[in-house]
Amino acid sequence: MTDPLEMLWPLVDAPDSLVAAHVVASWPAGVHQRLVELGLLRPAADASRVLCPECGEHLEEVLAIDGPGGRTRFVTPCPAVMRADVPSAALKQWTVDHAHLATALASTLALTGKCAELVPGRLWRLGRTQWNGTSRDALFARGLHWSDGETVRGVLVRSRKPIVFVALKRPPSEFWRTVPPVLVLPNVAALGDAKIEIETMEIAAAIHGADASASAPLIPNVSQEVLKQMIRQQVKAEMKTQLNDDIYLAAYRQCGSVREAAAFLSAETDREVTKDQVHRALARAGGAAAVLNSDDSDSVVRAIASHNRDKHGKPLIFAQPSQRQ
Ligand SMILES: [Zn+2]
Repeated sequence: MTDPLEMLWPLVDAPDSLVAAHVVASWPAGVHQRLVELGLLRPAADASRVLCPECGEHLEEVLAIDGPGGRTRFVTPCPAVMRADVPSAALKQWTVDHAHLATALASTLALTGKCAELVPGRLWRLGRTQWNGTSRDALFARGLHWSDGETVRGVLVRSRKPIVFVALKRPPSEFWRTVPPVLVLPNVAALGDAKIEIETMEIAAAIHGADASASAPLIPNVSQEVLKQMIRQQVKAEMKTQLNDDIYLAAYRQCGSVREAAAFLSAETDREVTKDQVHRALARAGGAAAVLNSDDSDSVVRAIASHNRDKHGKPLIFAQPSQRQ
């Protein structure tokens, strides 16, 4: 089933954020209604240009002419039929309610403080979170990659150790003096039964990755060769049905995301390794942050050992991990 948010993200990243009736008609059934019900899309002013309702081949200016009984009739020129009638439903269009989206993100991230618009239509402070004992602002930004993105950046960098969410496009790293964690929403968010849900593990990993690359060399990993050897030993020599935690954790450290670690392990073992299995191994080891914080270059065992000693490096900055698979 299509996640309705997949239709929303490109609109969020478009300057006018408008979607026309004929585009909505091409979406999978129920998607538009769901987005409207959730308040993420709202009706906008009628379109002045439409896709020709007669032949569907060209976008044309809509003309209002006098119709029978003094009623206004909408038409558009069309090479096929001279003048095509435009039903009023074809004029409808919708726009993203960005402020509502910001509020929804703030709520699912369970942040403290008020959600506030910092640059009209472009930048919101969603709230504040605790990450490894430091207070940080979570922000939602639109169009950092647009030509006036620097204006938004100027405000954004004044926030406290920012964590930034964007709809689709990240600005290039040269855009920043210090690159903050920039999370692309489709990678971490999905629509649950009642609201937007966020994959906290992915967020924790992304934040850690960005912080680490901003301040130090990349997190050391076991080499891919060593990891593949570990997998071969486990799967082939021991004939085990389950990979051990070392392997899950090493793959996670190597790939940097639960999704990619599961895909990598599936490819290497010729069997399906689910995201959930990786998740569970991470949870046993104290979470993503503990795994990635482990600075031993050659052994992932340390992540587990340090977890057994204490529980510092508590992984989840945000309230509830998602229950989705
Ligand atoms: Zn036409």
